[in-house]
Amino acid sequence: MIELSNVRKVYNLGKVQVNALKGASLKINKGEYVAIVGPSGSGKSTLMNIIGLLDKPTSGSYKLNGTEISTLNDDQLAYLRNRQIGFVFQSFNLLSKLDALSNVELPMLYAKIPAKERRKRAIKALEIVGLSERIHHKPNELSGGQQQRVAIARAIVMNPSFLLADEPTGNLDTNSSIEIMKIFYQLNESGTTIVMVTHEQDIANHAKRILRLRDGNIIEDTPIANRITY
Ligand code: ADP
Ligand code: ADP
Repeated sequence: MIELSNVRKVYNLGKVQVNALKGASLKINKGEYVAIVGPSGSGKSTLMNIIGLLDKPTSGSYKLNGTEISTLNDDQLAYLRNRQIGFVFQSFNLLSKLDALSNVELPMLYAKIPAKERRKRAIKALEIVGLSERIHHKPNELSGGQQQRVAIARAIVMNPSFLLADEPTGNLDTNSSIEIMKIFYQLNESGTTIVMVTHEQDIANHAKRILRLRDGNIIEDTPIANRITY
């Protein structure tokens, strides 16, 4: 359902051009769990931004569930993003003035889902990530791991086709990281497609497939033999 074909991304910095992706081709099917790894500057964020419809390729084709995204305007992209993609970031990106429940309701607010339904689905999503006891806590009343769980609930509440996670454990201690990896494992087992950027090998080993970037090229795309499961 994610299908990139010869995707290039060039950033123009005045007279200098940066070739951030040099012709990436890949397919990610429903139910997959992919870890994107590679050194700093290798193109991981660029690839994630393109897959997540936050940025467009300079050339090449990206089809999401059969739709060629270069044909879409910004409103159509925002619509697709809201419905098809859940985002999880290293820094959680929660709104500090809102409690967990209201943070999780946000994507449904954009989607104009009625209040009662929003509440019901947000409570359910927070239950899935094991935070039922904390729904009225604000971000600063939650640990890092708990904040990331709120962010995961927000990311899954629209039932997206896939979850995009950019260094989801980058700000967390080992125990909290394991908690987050357990949630990802359960989500993937129940059918959620996950694409995750990480620079930690232990975290990458939770995925089923590893995609290694270097200097804007995919240099490895292989299954993970002994992945970590729960
Ligand atoms: P990674 O996520 O693996 O660290 P990036 O995708 O962020 O790699 O960067 C790939 C290359 O593109 C780097 O050389 C980086 O400096 C450059 N780059 C990334 N984003 C921009 C941007 N917005 N403008 C200019 N250059 C960029
Ligand atoms: P709208 O234009 O309808 O407000 P947005 O472009 O703000 O839509 O966002 C649509 C969806 O995509 C939102 O649910 C939001 O979570 C997600 N999104 C958009 N941009 C970003 C971003 N830079 N980082 C994370 N999520 C984003």
